Amino acid sequence: MPEIDYDLFEHKLNEKEQKAYVVFGKEHKASCYPDYTLSAIEVTKERTDKGIKITVKCPECKAEEDITDYEGWKK
Ligand SMILES: [Zn+2]
Repeated sequence: MPEIDYDLFEHKLNEKEQKAYVVFGKEHKASCYPDYTLSAIEVTKERTDKGIKITVKCPECKAEEDITDYEGWKK
């Protein structure tokens, strides 16, 4: 079994990604889950060869969106 990828676990969304997360969350909070807080949005972090991919998912309609800031990978 591989070791836990702590770097991935600790990875923080950058400013652009946080904004995209909030936009997605608010959109779905309004139409899908008015009773929950914004944090009900599921965030998935996935390591790739070039950077960490961030996907958000609505807990209600299960819509997913890739909010990765690919520009941030080019540093
Ligand atoms: Zn939704």
